[in-house]
Amino acid sequence: MEVIDSGATVLTVNKLEYAWKKGEVPVLRIDALGLSTGERVFLRGPSGSGKSTLLAAIAGVVDVQRGGIEVAGTDVGQLKGGAKDRFRVDHVGLIFQMFNLIPWQSALENVLMPCRFSRRRRERAGADPKLSALRLLDDLGLSDPALVSAPAMSLSVGQQQRVAAARALIGTPDLILADEPTSALDEDAKISFLELLKRECASVGSALLFVSHDRSLERGFDRVLDITEVNKA
Ligand code: ADP
Ligand code: MG
Repeated sequence: MEVIDSGATVLTVNKLEYAWKKGEVPVLRIDALGLSTGERVFLRGPSGSGKSTLLAAIAGVVDVQRGGIEVAGTDVGQLKGGAKDRFRVDHVGLIFQMFNLIPWQSALENVLMPCRFSRRRRERAGADPKLSALRLLDDLGLSDPALVSAPAMSLSVGQQQRVAAARALIGTPDLILADEPTSALDEDAKISFLELLKRECASVGSALLFVSHDRSLERGFDRVLDITEVNKA
């Protein structure tokens, strides 16, 4: 029988404090926040409430002054330089507002990027990561070989967003962090993209922390959190 450890967490935030400049008033003061393995959480909050800053702290892009952030059992604050970058690509998939694709590389090459930098992601992507990349792109509605091999910069915003999602998902990272990735899409495209993202996360078993100010998108998540209720700054 399969043993399910319902207590397993992929993210634990503990007594976190973060100010953009030392000595300034913190923009984040969070006592406790956690995500279970595979859980899909919608984090909402008005503009300027610290959502992007929190994701940057979880991703280890900014260093917090106080408190701890554990991702997959590792305290990211204790990691330095290259080790932090390696840990991020091993365990975290990122989808940001600006998709940060490499513009002159193809959609497929962009999706395969985490596998080039992370042995863990490569091994988890199966015997042939390229097949895994093509399957993800296909699931996300990008199957046309001409599109898959086209430079990322020649794709539409919606297509680039799908490429960014496939890149985050490949090699089943423990945690996907998505920061308002639907903001450039029209209403119908938003909903369908979000459905695809949630379904893919469920199928590969990655937890999802999806950040948005748009409450029309919060249905269908395991949990909805309002940052203004957890952020005491
Ligand atoms: P949200 O994503 O919820 O809109 P942010 O995390 O972007 O909010 O911003 C929270 C606060 O941090 C705001 O007061 C914002 O002005 C400030 N802030 C955001 N990014 C920076 C930055 N790079 N440098 C200094 N202050 C920043
Ligand atoms: Mg933001």
